[in-house]
Amino acid sequence: MSSSNRRVFIFQVAAGGSALALAKVAHAQGAPMVNEKDAQAVSLGYAADTTKVDAKKYPKHVATQLCSNCALYTGKAGEASGPCGIFPGKQVAAKGWCSAYAKKA
Ligand code: SF4
Repeated sequence: MSSSNRRVFIFQVAAGGSALALAKVAHAQGAPMVNEKDAQAVSLGYAADTTKVDAKKYPKHVATQLCSNCALYTGKAGEASGPCGIFPGKQVAAKGWCSAYAKKA
């Protein structure tokens, strides 16, 4: 491979990787919100508003626990929603909560 072909190849690989990364971001931003009534959401006690969590069912829950400060949340700071590893392909509310909550380190 000539050095010019190598440069073209490296550029194509880098451009392909960037396009893939952009596609993933676009997909995450356009992903539907988790519905509180979905079976998985119900089983985890997901609520789009942490203040509406059933205190009797989840006595350890406190209102300062939010998806936005959960270790599984990968949304950007300040945005209303973002992806969560528990609900692949969907978005959770930044002010939401579920019983899989784990405080971000
Ligand atoms: Fe929210 Fe964390 Fe539960 Fe995901 S795992 S829904 S980010 S509390």
